[in-house]
Amino acid sequence: MVYDLLLKNTCIIDEEGNISKDKNIYIRNGIIEKIIDEQIEIYPAREQINCGELFVTPGLVNLHTHSPMTVFRGLAEDVHIEDWFNRIIWPYESRMNEEDVYAGTVGAIEEMVNNGVTVFADHYMFADRICDAVIDTGIKADIAPTLFGVSDDFEQNLKEVSQLILKRQGSHKRVCLRMGPHSPYTCPGKTLKVIIDRAKSLEVGIHIHVSETHEQVEESLSQYLKTPFQLLEEAGGFQIPCILAHGLWIMDEDRKHLNNNSYLAVSPKTYMKLSIGTVHIWDRSHELQLFTGTDGAASSNTLNPLGQARVFALMGKMITGASTNFYLQFIWKMLIKGHEALSFNSGKVKEGYSADLLIWDLTRCNTAPVHNPLAALIYSADSNNILHNIIDGKFLKKDGKVQIKSDSSLLLNRSKDIVSRGKGETNLNF
Ligand SMILES: [Zn+2]
Repeated sequence: MVYDLLLKNTCIIDEEGNISKDKNIYIRNGIIEKIIDEQIEIYPAREQINCGELFVTPGLVNLHTHSPMTVFRGLAEDVHIEDWFNRIIWPYESRMNEEDVYAGTVGAIEEMVNNGVTVFADHYMFADRICDAVIDTGIKADIAPTLFGVSDDFEQNLKEVSQLILKRQGSHKRVCLRMGPHSPYTCPGKTLKVIIDRAKSLEVGIHIHVSETHEQVEESLSQYLKTPFQLLEEAGGFQIPCILAHGLWIMDEDRKHLNNNSYLAVSPKTYMKLSIGTVHIWDRSHELQLFTGTDGAASSNTLNPLGQARVFALMGKMITGASTNFYLQFIWKMLIKGHEALSFNSGKVKEGYSADLLIWDLTRCNTAPVHNPLAALIYSADSNNILHNIIDGKFLKKDGKVQIKSDSSLLLNRSKDIVSRGKGETNLNF
């Protein structure tokens, strides 16, 4: 038997942060078929990488992003969060079209692949074109078409999203879909339950923003006598698989609603930049399943989960006053275990799993010497240390170069276009 790819003499860092040395990894048809000790027999493979001092890890997960928002990168800086949403981003987004979304997504995927992401969970409009971009580039994605209950066209939007899910779900092995109610505050009344009921009937999960700011929680309590988490629970959101973006202001009474199918995706760069608080997710992190997301490039500027995890750890040590908190394995699991929220059979360097792997060179000047590989990865490494990004056994980054072929002017032209189109009307209100 001839394998497609042999990663020879590797040092594996698994999803828990454990290290095993001198392994040969054999890949065929996109799957890790065999992992054996280096000294044992060598089997033939069409391509071989002699890993030597290189490290092999599972790919990184970006569990919450709005990939098309690369077109807005740098457009809303040094502003209050209300201005960010109500006076800049939402008015520009109201004039966005599906080709802007495609160009923005391809740009985002190139950046994510460069930063070691093998799968991302997206939340945006014109999701049909996000699916296209994912298929065209070779990455994997779990895509939630955004729905606003406050929209005048809510019923029509729900119908279109349902049709999109029916059309796309199961049609390509690198694409999954779920419902994307934007948040409890933009899906008031019965609309949140209607979306969740539809998700149940389509047998998909949801991806939703919850309790991003203190004001949102206060407003929800004064209007409904319930927190956003409680509204979500009441609508049935915790009965199905659920990616919860942010949850920054999760309250004590909210925690009981979380279960093994609730995955909190945190993006600390956004919280710091828009100054939306530093408390609950750090104080209560040991009781929560936390994973890294990047949010969109308009709020956190980069689509780099490693950068988010680094900020999360440093911030956590500082505000809890304990440098022993947010230790390396904890942060590593935040980066890797988000695979468990998704359905791509990925996230482990283990026989039978998808060959979605990174090969790291930590011998460079920014990471050497490697007394502690996890410390090198979490606190010192950058995209230059990622030599190869392999998805389904194929190289999306090879020898330090992203392999995705795209028109580099597309994103630039589309972003200029959007600015020249100007701001439109929206009935959304943050
Ligand atoms: Zn978001």
